[in-house]
Amino acid sequence: MRPLLCEIRLNRLRENYHTLKQLHGGKLLAVIKADAYGHGAVRCAQALDGIADGFAVAMLEEALLLRENGIRKPIVLLEGVFDADEYAQVEQWDLWPVIHHQAQLESFLAHSWQSPRTVWLKMDSGMHRAGFFPHNYAAAYTALQQSPHVAEIIKMSHFACADETDRAMTELQTETFDLACEGLAGAESLANSAAILDYPPSHRDWGRAGLALYGISPFGGNDARLKPVMRLSTRVFAERVLQPHEPVGYGATFYTKRSSRIGLIACGYGDGYPRHAGTDTPIAADGERTRIVGRVSMDMMTVELKHGGIGNEIELFGDTVHVNEISAAAGTLAYEIVCNIKRAQRIYSE
Ligand SMILES: *Cc1c(COP(=O)(O)O)cnc(C)c1O
Repeated sequence: MRPLLCEIRLNRLRENYHTLKQLHGGKLLAVIKADAYGHGAVRCAQALDGIADGFAVAMLEEALLLRENGIRKPIVLLEGVFDADEYAQVEQWDLWPVIHHQAQLESFLAHSWQSPRTVWLKMDSGMHRAGFFPHNYAAAYTALQQSPHVAEIIKMSHFACADETDRAMTELQTETFDLACEGLAGAESLANSAAILDYPPSHRDWGRAGLALYGISPFGGNDARLKPVMRLSTRVFAERVLQPHEPVGYGATFYTKRSSRIGLIACGYGDGYPRHAGTDTPIAADGERTRIVGRVSMDMMTVELKHGGIGNEIELFGDTVHVNEISAAAGTLAYEIVCNIKRAQRIYSE
């Protein structure tokens, strides 16, 4: 069998949850949208179900998959419903919808609920992607508060720049949120991973941890407080020794400088590894760091080896190489890389 393995260390997932909950204080949603950022939503939710205060997914379909697999904790739908008729299932499966625009609010109020529901009311505090404008927020809040269908309103907003070292935008959004919430009772939720790790003024009643839960720092680099959950590895399945000044791979973009041992490994952009991570992207051969040479192909890539040995283990990222090094080399984010990994055998360890 093709030896591309994607190990998911569930003990590390639980450790990261505890760490982030401690850092934030209060309650913490485990954000497991997009198949838990490529880690497998059902297995991750099952691993966290005993300890997490709740989960967050993007949409109804992701929530139903969790409920069908026995997940009982609260589940927030971060984008709310897309159609009014989804509210029937929101009730049936006991989900917590976000309400972030007027049509969602109106269809929520018009729905005939059997029992009052907890809702998350989202403010656009400056990101300008989703949410009620600050000047419309109190009206939306009051409409919900006066409705017999509402049990609890959790006030929320989302940061645009929390993963940047410049705090100005995050501070402004926090101020905007606090001003517009003046006089509105109830729990609040502001912090994503970056704000949980690095912006305590955003710590309120509920944190919402995504990337950091998987052991990845949103600031790039490595954060010793977090333990990488995913480890992608494969094996050398062919090798050759090339003379100096020989090209390697598509486009002949890399030439050997000296006599070089080039290993062929089973992983490529068809597996979600970014094609833009080319020559010099780090990789580990039997625990020792080396590099990719030449372009990444669809099903395989070529790496520089110090010692020979078909069958030797290669770590694409996980313990010796951090996924943030790969995203930096590829000009993308770790979010995108872990979400995209596919065609690998996923192996869970407790
Ligand atoms: C995805 C998402 C999060 C989690 O963000 P991370 O940066 O991965 O921690 C939090 N809140 C909302 C609204 C989201 O959509």
